[in-house]
Amino acid sequence: MIIAIDGPAASGKGTLGKRLAAHYGYRHLDTGLIYRAVAKAMLDASAALTDEVRAAAIAQALDPGMFGDPALKSQAVGEAASVVSALPRVRDALLAFQRSFAAGPPGAVLDGRDIGTVICPDADVKIFVIAEPQVRARRRALEMLGRGEAADEAAVLADILKRDERDRNRAAAPLKRADDAHELDNSNLDIEGGVKAAIAIVERIRAAR
Ligand code: C5P
Repeated sequence: MIIAIDGPAASGKGTLGKRLAAHYGYRHLDTGLIYRAVAKAMLDASAALTDEVRAAAIAQALDPGMFGDPALKSQAVGEAASVVSALPRVRDALLAFQRSFAAGPPGAVLDGRDIGTVICPDADVKIFVIAEPQVRARRRALEMLGRGEAADEAAVLADILKRDERDRNRAAAPLKRADDAHELDNSNLDIEGGVKAAIAIVERIRAAR
């Protein structure tokens, strides 16, 4: 079984993806980390973020071992990721890796922006997570404070809105709800509530088979 979770920045899809994977014993891929890893390598090399050939070469040679690097979580890397992820050759270079991850046994949960629309259009379950921007900004700011980073909620909100706008309006694989995705509004749910709602969606689909 493949579970595709998409949604805007800081909507809680990463946490949901991790928890759903643990619940079902599946593997989990936070695909945002892939774009963040490409962006960080570009920043480290002082390369222009719009240098498509260079970014695609980095994407092609990406080492999944670096996805655990805590530096990938920073706001600056997230912002840069949203620029490099709009480059079609970068997305093409990362397609096969994501599809092969999704296809492996015993099942997989992938979260990102285009999982249900481009990477796994035939996923068994598609969930599109949404949450009010202010709620997302508060949660992201709390996460940052938890990591010992400074966090200005208004700046986090501005960053989230800017990234959403860029991710929604790009030509290549824009952030968008797949027609057959189930919407999960995470605005008023805590983590356990969100996980319960997501499991309920998966179980409804399994029961209907
Ligand atoms: O989800 P996360 O905030 O880690 O993603 C960072 C950026 O990577 C997003 O703003 C988006 O531009 C890009 N991304 C993407 N497609 C995905 C996952 C992330 O374009 N499947």
